Amino acid sequence: MVVRAGREFLAIPGPTTMPDEVLQAMHRPALDIYSDAMVQLTDGLLRDLKRLFATKGHSYIYIANGHGAWEAVLSNVLSRGDKILVLESGRFAINWGNAATAMGVEVEVLKGDIRRAVRPAEVEARLRQDTEGKIKAIVVVQVDTASGAFNDIPAIGRAIKAAKHNALFMVDAVASLGCMPFEMDAWGIDVAMSASQKGLMTPPGLGFVAVNDRAREVHKTAGLRTPYWDWSERDGVEHYRKYAGTAPVHLLFALRQAFDMLFAEGLDNVFLRHRLLAETVRHAVAAWSEGQVLSFNIEAPAERANTVTTVRIGEGHDPASLQAYCKDKCGVVLGTGIGDLSGRAFRIAHMGHVNAPMILGTLGVVEVGLAALGIPHGRGGTSAAIDWLGHNVSA
Ligand SMILES: *Cc1c(COP(=O)(O)O)cnc(C)c1O
Repeated sequence: MVVRAGREFLAIPGPTTMPDEVLQAMHRPALDIYSDAMVQLTDGLLRDLKRLFATKGHSYIYIANGHGAWEAVLSNVLSRGDKILVLESGRFAINWGNAATAMGVEVEVLKGDIRRAVRPAEVEARLRQDTEGKIKAIVVVQVDTASGAFNDIPAIGRAIKAAKHNALFMVDAVASLGCMPFEMDAWGIDVAMSASQKGLMTPPGLGFVAVNDRAREVHKTAGLRTPYWDWSERDGVEHYRKYAGTAPVHLLFALRQAFDMLFAEGLDNVFLRHRLLAETVRHAVAAWSEGQVLSFNIEAPAERANTVTTVRIGEGHDPASLQAYCKDKCGVVLGTGIGDLSGRAFRIAHMGHVNAPMILGTLGVVEVGLAALGIPHGRGGTSAAIDWLGHNVSA
């Protein structure tokens, strides 16, 4: 017996649900890649990317996922043997650092914890010890999609300033751009990167990088530059150089539509919508946690992301069975626990094209699954979520 006819709902942190308008925007012939329309499409997207990152710097679009954009960043500002500092708060900054290691960069990890965000004071203390300025760049994620941690990027930026350290400040906004405020220039960020398939509601396949002048200066002498990723190559006047070859025309149509939708809603409202829906999820998880088996992975409420919630599940209970129930019986795909949380957690994504019925439906299905599988949980999670949303979205 199943109740899953109709659309499967992806509550995974990427790829996320694409709006019908975004899907339809791709259903047309390609543009002549040498036409004015193509140039205008690119120029508009590069300009709007800068608006999303909130920078007066430069932006780049790569045919790549987030892993590709990571390499784009590293290769443009580092040389073999350079040292970087990775700020751990889960899996993703670590993985960015692993790419750097493979490229011949020396990586030091500022040890964190899967259950909390980066501590800015620890960053400052470590940087103060680096009196010779050996650390060339600091890499961190705004939201760690594995742990569900939300890092205080402006506070980390202030810590770097307080230590009077010269390293480039490089931030991964893959799981937060277009969902939570991001202020590249105001927060002292030198390089930021993201990708298309999470908050930006577009198919996987586009990686984005934004860069300020300080990073472009460092770039001039970077030894790891390769033609495909190279910013200087992409700064060339011929349009096709902006993509180092054929433009990903249909993905760009999709992105254009997604940006138009974000700006039409208004970024402030987009951010508020994410906060409200995240808080809705957290009210359900808090109630379920009273059963002593489920718990928030991130312990401090202020450090929980508005885009994904990682829920731990105690010994003797298998998140895979809950995920399988939700998917196979009810058509809701939950995120898997990854890294150290593999087999110990599941994730509920609430990023991008999400609304109240999607989120309340997902919570309802989780609760159905918990009941059907006999996983102990506090009663009334979905109802607590509904009550909270009703109080906070006024008539
Ligand atoms: C998903 C994700 C990535 C990796 O992106 P891919 O497109 O899967 O390569 C990097 N960083 C964060 C924070 C992510 O959530």
